[in-house]
Amino acid sequence: MDVNRCLKKVLKYGVIYCICILAVAYFRIRPYTTERREAARNEYNIVYLNYESALADYEDAIEDYQKRAKQFETASIIDYNKNVSKKYDLGESIEMRATISYNLIRNGGIGNDFSYSANINGSSLSNRTQVKINLFRNNTLQITITEHDPSIDDVGEKTETFLFPLDRLNEGTINSYTIYARETRGRGAGESAEFNVTLTLEPVRKIDLTSNRYVKSKFTESRPTKPTKPLLPTEKDFTISDIFANDVAFHTICEILALIFLVRIVLFARHSIIEARREQERLRKMEQEKEQREIERAEFIKELSGQSIRDFCKVPTNISFTQDNLPKDNNNRIYGSYTVYISRSGTKYHRKCGCSSANIPYHLFRVQSRGYAPCARCCPPNGDLPQWYRDYIAMLEKAKRLDVQS
Ligand SMILES: [Zn+2]
Repeated sequence: MDVNRCLKKVLKYGVIYCICILAVAYFRIRPYTTERREAARNEYNIVYLNYESALADYEDAIEDYQKRAKQFETASIIDYNKNVSKKYDLGESIEMRATISYNLIRNGGIGNDFSYSANINGSSLSNRTQVKINLFRNNTLQITITEHDPSIDDVGEKTETFLFPLDRLNEGTINSYTIYARETRGRGAGESAEFNVTLTLEPVRKIDLTSNRYVKSKFTESRPTKPTKPLLPTEKDFTISDIFANDVAFHTICEILALIFLVRIVLFARHSIIEARREQERLRKMEQEKEQREIERAEFIKELSGQSIRDFCKVPTNISFTQDNLPKDNNNRIYGSYTVYISRSGTKYHRKCGCSSANIPYHLFRVQSRGYAPCARCCPPNGDLPQWYRDYIAMLEKAKRLDVQS
């Protein structure tokens, strides 16, 4: 098989292989793609609905959290106040004497015609004004400082809210605030006067908070945790890429089979190519050898130039040859003068028949190659084979090889 045919075969198998794989993939995937796309979409919709409700929950939760966080900031005071309130029945508010003082710290040249006003929970303050202070709710303090100008007054305002600390019920409180009155127009625009305002609250009457009855409540509530916002699900999480997830085993087997198939094709192709090359090489060699032989044959025939091989090798005329091409002369022994004798168990050959009871006739040219050594008593040393015999044998072999009649 030549290489091209082999490659064609491989190509054919390769195409069949690809078609098989594609067909399997197509028939496996097609029902899934629509079905699973639908499923993925439904799944996504469900998750999206969950997300929406989670988002709504989150919005409620964050609102709740903000309330609770604010509560947390004031919870200890409120808790504490409630405790006190139960024990002493303080009511919602208490009367306090409020004193407010204004101290000019620095005047950036905005004038000196100041007037002041302040109120707590709407009640305006002057010296030692008796005001109602809320015990469980915020109190609002408003302060206004005005510098009177001919055209437009310079005003500094501040609104503060505070919870009254009930552990100061019998001591009262002193709070300081910094207020700036600013000039917004005219020569001194941007300049300001800085005031330190001090609010003093004194109890109107003392409350007997004896230590054995006065228990400060413990603050147990922990800081509320901020709810986390749910994440918008992405369609990416519900793609059809999970189609195969349920079929991993099936696909693994398919892939292994396909791989084995592919390996087999590759091995087959490799084997075929090697075989084809070997065959080609063999044919080429045979062709070469044949040509060579033709040349040699022509040369051989030319060399013989019509003589017989026997004549060409100058074989003596009294020599004839046995069927094994062993020479024999006209001496009356079996191989003529080339006859020697061996015994069945001996290791020597003999010229003389019966020497050391050797009486099996043997050809002289064969004894050495069969491992026999000459008998010291009856054998002269055995010389080389005669040149004509060696030539004759070589020529015979060559004639046989080149298919020339001898
Ligand atoms: Zn002998």
